[in-house]
Amino acid sequence: MKEKGLLIVLSGPSGVGKGTVRKEIFSHPDTAFEYSISMTTRAPREGEVNGVDYFFKSREEFEALIKEEKLLEYAEFVGNYYGTPVDYVRETLEEGKDVFLEIEVQGARQVRKKFPDGLFIFLAPPSLSELKNRIVTRGTETEDVILNRMTVAKEEIEMMNLYDYVVENDEIERACERIKAIVVAEHCRRERV
Ligand code: 5GP
Repeated sequence: MKEKGLLIVLSGPSGVGKGTVRKEIFSHPDTAFEYSISMTTRAPREGEVNGVDYFFKSREEFEALIKEEKLLEYAEFVGNYYGTPVDYVRETLEEGKDVFLEIEVQGARQVRKKFPDGLFIFLAPPSLSELKNRIVTRGTETEDVILNRMTVAKEEIEMMNLYDYVVENDEIERACERIKAIVVAEHCRRERV
């Protein structure tokens, strides 16, 4: 029997550069995984092509997909729906190919429940670990500032706990290399058993 492919989920806070990293990874011809093109109700941006960047849908169409359980996960983000087509993901994994999702954090949480064996990578802003350090080691901030920062950091850290790996997006090329290395390592780890 053919080995199933690996489901790779790249997620992280909004604005961290997930899309840029994903585009960079898929611009290399040696990238061996398949990108799952998402569905969205947001309007295409200039240069975006239906069926390449996204499958652009009306709200009615999207809500029908939800009802028909055609989505592996979906989320509303800044007033628009985004979701992952379930049939494409399942069929491609069955063919033994790795599937790559680039989705926001609520969606990643849903995928974790359905695919606990997936490979979950959190793309973190470069300041996060620094922020953590500062909160722990410095006593110079006012109590309010510290509390505020702790709340933000706690939320981010709790989100990170869902993931298998954290990659800091300090420099795009480096982040991409680390993501590819993680996928290779994960395959080696799983082949051991
Ligand atoms: P944008 O509108 O900038 O292309 O994407 C907005 C956000 O939606 C980004 O954080 C992106 O990662 C996320 N996103 C794209 N496709 C999906 C999807 O299928 N599901 C979920 N949950 N988020 C998605």
